[in-house]
Amino acid sequence: MATRVALIAHDHKKDDIVRLAGEYVDTLARCELIATGTTGSRIAEAHGLSVERMLSGPHGGDLQIGSQLAEGRVDMVIFLRDPMTPQPHEPDINALVRACDVHNVPCATNISTARMILDVLTLRLKHQI
Ligand code: PGA
Repeated sequence: MATRVALIAHDHKKDDIVRLAGEYVDTLARCELIATGTTGSRIAEAHGLSVERMLSGPHGGDLQIGSQLAEGRVDMVIFLRDPMTPQPHEPDINALVRACDVHNVPCATNISTARMILDVLTLRLKHQI
């Protein structure tokens, strides 16, 4: 079964996640991708990846991803949060990160950690482990 990766980025981090997805496009192409609305569109348009799009974050997209995660349908989360800007859906953001901790799902909230997770995923796919 393909690894399911959730991708989310706040507005000031969207260019970063698009760039990151480009760096790992071959790996991500072998995964099932889900994303919040705008993040998903940006990544799909930039790299031609197939992305299952949820609602936009402020409209409940983080909660939709959290719901799938709680049901065991998300294997890892790349969530580039903007630590410098207050978000109207802060409770939803916290709920998603909490759900990752409750269910022991890897969650990268910055690019360095995201690269580490994606490097491991790349190796796993390469060696079928
Ligand atoms: P978006 O949602 O990808 O639809 O912008 C992310 C967010 O801002 O939480």
